[in-house]
Amino acid sequence: MKKIPIAISSCLLGNKVRFDGGHKQSKYCLKTLSDWFDYQPICPEMGIGMPAPRPPIRLIDDDDNIRVVQADDHSYDVTDELKAYAKDKLHVLDDICGYIVIRNSPSCGMERVKVYHKNGNPAGKSDRGVYINEIMTERPELPVEEEGRLQDAKLRENFITRVFAYQDFKDSVKSAPSVDALVKFHSRYKYLVMAHNYSDYKKLGRLVANNDGLDLNKLVSTYELVLMQTLGKIANAKSHSNVLYHILGYLKEDLTSTAKQELVNVIEQYRTGYVTLIAPLTLINHYIKQFGNDYIAQQAYLNPHPVELGLRNYI
Ligand code: SF4
Repeated sequence: MKKIPIAISSCLLGNKVRFDGGHKQSKYCLKTLSDWFDYQPICPEMGIGMPAPRPPIRLIDDDDNIRVVQADDHSYDVTDELKAYAKDKLHVLDDICGYIVIRNSPSCGMERVKVYHKNGNPAGKSDRGVYINEIMTERPELPVEEEGRLQDAKLRENFITRVFAYQDFKDSVKSAPSVDALVKFHSRYKYLVMAHNYSDYKKLGRLVANNDGLDLNKLVSTYELVLMQTLGKIANAKSHSNVLYHILGYLKEDLTSTAKQELVNVIEQYRTGYVTLIAPLTLINHYIKQFGNDYIAQQAYLNPHPVELGLRNYI
């Protein structure tokens, strides 16, 4: 299987690029995800010519203007360099399907990076790292996640779902855009989207129908953005159960009443928190192999990421 191109904060791969000359190696990224992800390590601070080790930098609030400056010398300001570096990187990051960053970095932090007053006191607010903010603004559809948040089972499953869906969208639709390719993609993703947000599922359906007569490029780019924003919403036990019951509807004619009741019981056990999502899905996948039609068997919802990652064992 072709590995998915993913950008990553270089220090997470064990490269000694941090201000203190060290790294923040992530075993999960390096050992587990690397079987599926092809990493492109980026250190924006080294990229703009800062050495390692180097004096630490921080975000400061300069009259409501967020700047990145050296903590003990505010005249050393690298805001414009980091922004320019991000703009340069966007060209070479065109093929990436996700970005894993590190928290609290004034360059790479995705959220809640502490902001200081010019006098050195905490400003009581937070912001995004300046470099990654440029990337996320220019590529709003791109899945971005902080490595620390990947410890949370739901956030981990959500991020990896988005990465695989985004790669699929690029391969199936963006590589050779057509209305037919978009309709087929939407058909496969119907239940995955429904699990993440029901009203967005309706919205995407209306978009594909293209009643507004958007030209193809606009249609594809609008769909892509709404799709990725929708998948960024965390699916919960209620929305997953709703999808599981929809899928059960395709099987009920073929299942014996005992098998049907058993499946309903397992869905309810999942909905009420006694088993994880993998339990009803294993049963459903089993029955779909036996009785399912092509439409239901092709649903991305059934296998949105490699089973070896075990992501649905924990949600
Ligand atoms: S700038 Fe980003 S990649 Fe470089 S050391 Fe800091 S957090 Fe790591």
